[in-house]
Formats: sequence, C-alpha cells, structure tokens
Amino acid sequence: MNKKTIKDIDVKGKKVFVRVDFNVPMDENQNITNDTRIVKTLPTINYLLDNGAAVILACHVGRPTEAREPKFSTKPIRAKLAELLGKEVQWAEDCVGEPAEKAAAALKPGEVLLLENLRYHKQEKKNDPEFAKQLASLADVAVDDAFGVSHRAHASNAGITKYLETVAGFLMEKEINYIGKTLENPQRPFVAIIGGAKVSDKIGVISNMIDKVDTIIIGGGMAHTFDAAKGLPIGNSLCEPDKFDLARDLLKKAEDKGVKVVLPVDVVVADKFAADANKKIVDVDKVEDGWQALDSGPKTSEEYTKALAGAKTVIWNGPMGVFEFDAFAKGTEAVAKAVAKATDEGAISIVGGGDSIAALKKTGLSDKISHISTGGGATLEFLEGKVLPGIDSIANK
Ligand code: AMP
Repeated sequence: MNKKTIKDIDVKGKKVFVRVDFNVPMDENQNITNDTRIVKTLPTINYLLDNGAAVILACHVGRPTEAREPKFSTKPIRAKLAELLGKEVQWAEDCVGEPAEKAAAALKPGEVLLLENLRYHKQEKKNDPEFAKQLASLADVAVDDAFGVSHRAHASNAGITKYLETVAGFLMEKEINYIGKTLENPQRPFVAIIGGAKVSDKIGVISNMIDKVDTIIIGGGMAHTFDAAKGLPIGNSLCEPDKFDLARDLLKKAEDKGVKVVLPVDVVVADKFAADANKKIVDVDKVEDGWQALDSGPKTSEEYTKALAGAKTVIWNGPMGVFEFDAFAKGTEAVAKAVAKATDEGAISIVGGGDSIAALKKTGLSDKISHISTGGGATLEFLEGKVLPGIDSIANK
C-alpha cells in the first residue's frame, strides 16, 4: 500500500478539493461542542495554504434528508475554522452548482472555501458519477483526509477519483501507515486484543487477526460466548448461542495456525447490570445462575499482562469489561497499562474501532499509545483486512 500524499504533488497555484471529516458534535444552538476533528485537519490545510494552493473543503455533517435541515449546515464550522486558522474562510451555500462554482472560480492561492454539507444531496452517498464530476469540476486536484468515511464509496472520496488525481492528506497517511503497513508487515511478537460486547460485531476482525498474530486475547462480553461454546457455565452473562459453532471454528483455526488464544480464567460477576451491583470474583468454571460476568478478574489481568510483555506490535479493539461502570473497569485498565508498558519498551500499539477510544481515554493512558485510529467503522473494516474503497482509489506512488 504505497499511496501518493500531498507531499508528492505540486499544489502551487492549484485549486485543491479536500475531503475532510468535519462531522463534529453540535448542541441544539449549533455550538460546536468538540472541535477535535477540525483541529486534526489543520496540518493538511496549512500545508496546502503554505504551498500556494487555493483550498476547497468539502465534508458532511450528520444525516440530513433532502429537506436540507438547517441544523446540518456547515456554516457553524466556517466560524470555528476561521478562528483556528486565524484567517477568513469563505463559504458556499451549496457544494455543487452555481454557488460552489462561482466561489471556487474566484478563490485565490492562500484562500480557503468551505462548501455546504455534501449529504444535502443524496447523490453523495450513492456515489453518483455526475455529482462526483460536478465536485471535481471545482478543482485541479483532490486530497482525501477523511479516513472515517473511507469504508464507504461515496462521490466525494471514491467517485471523484475518476475525474481528478486524488492523494492522501496527513491524517489519511497516518492511518494508512499505521494500520495498513502494520498489518502488511508486523514486527513480532504481534498480539491482538479483541474485546467489546458481541462476537457478531467482531467476527471479521478476530478471523483476520488469527491469520496474522502470534497471540490473540479475547475478552469483554464476547468471551462468554466462547466460554459457553466450550461448555463452561456463564450464568446470565452476555451470550450469543447462534455463534457457538463459529466460536469453536475460530478457536480451531487459531489452534491449527499455532496462534495462542488467551481467554479469561476468572471474572467479576454481578447480580445485575448496574454500577452499584453486588459483585464477586469467581473462576470461569464457577459462574452461578443469576450472576453475570461484567469484567475480567485479577488472575486474568495477570495473564493478559504476561501475554503482552515483550510484544512488538499490539492492536487493541474493544474493552475487557463494562468499563463505563467504575466497578467493572479494572480489566480494561490492566490491559491499557500493559499496552502502555509494551509501547514504552518499543512496541507499536494501535487502538481503535468501536468503543475502544472511550475505554482508553478513561484509563488516562491515551498519550502512551503509538496510534489511536479515529475511524470507528472504517477502522474496524481496515482491521478485518477489507479493501477500503476510499483508500483503494487514492493514487498509487
Ligand atoms: P464495542 O463497541 O464492540 O467495542 O463494545 C463496547 C461495549 O461492550 C461497551 O459498552 C462495554 O460496556 C460492553 N461490554 C464489555 N464487556 C462486557 C460484558 N462482560 N458484558 C456486557 N457488556 C460488555
């Protein structure tokens, strides 16, 4: 995976269409409550401006219908972006047609134009070629910096590449370098930690990881489906009986490939799903009816820590327990500490997909991780080994 980036092209005097992920949370008065996604794109925008480009920014906000609900307008982002860039940002009331064409034509090198919400047009998500062509007509070259939508083939990422050469922005480059290159050529030992609620959400990731890793840690709610499939008592723990065969198949696949599987040996069980539930620690073969496992136990944390010691590559997706309740966050904390230690000692660590970022944030160890992937669904599909259309269509070097 050797994709062209903005450093590989000459942008001087060019109009550059940049697909960004500015899908920021806003309150009911359209105040931006978290500007992280905008802040993270500034290096790409500033690089283009410093190198003499006229920058046309396109993004989506929320899930609007064709009624163009005002609450999904990009207008509030214009003000925030101007503040963060320290310069005026022009705005077009539509992303295609006359307003966009006029504004783009008048845009000079060093200037920034933000287009109205791409998803006010249903053609965006349908990857309509005519719509993609209209977007492309605004610029000379395209940059894709919206990793979060790269698992979707939409007009502004995949479609536009038919009409304009498209290269990766810095954010996209980082995701490709960390996840893409790590999966292609990992330093060993390579350990994957897969947790979270359901096996059904993670089948693809577990299966792909078994093809690549030396050790796989399976924790969180999904571990109980594996336990039950092996005949262990799980009480009222989360369980997907229709996935027993699959769980057994995955364990067999790991065994055949010589991949070590680490499952919980003890768990913290609760008498109800609540922060203030009564709880106790029991071995996995001693879970009684009426109790449910909401976290891994101390012996398991030790096993996880041992499995991660000396790792050179770590990929972590999904918490080890119901980390949202402090009483059941210890297993997740133990894993975060072990991943941070491995990273300190030279491992590349990647965390992302699902609820992993929130879980990591709670442990306060986020800055100890090599790469926190921001993609959500895109990260999961990347970890599943799927070809992401948004990345695939970026020009090769
Ligand atoms: P995911 O988005 O797939 O990473 O799943 C994250 C969710 O899994 C979190 O909301 C956790 O509370 C939940 N979870 C983790 N372990 C358990 C468990 N043992 N029982 C129920 N839910 C769990």
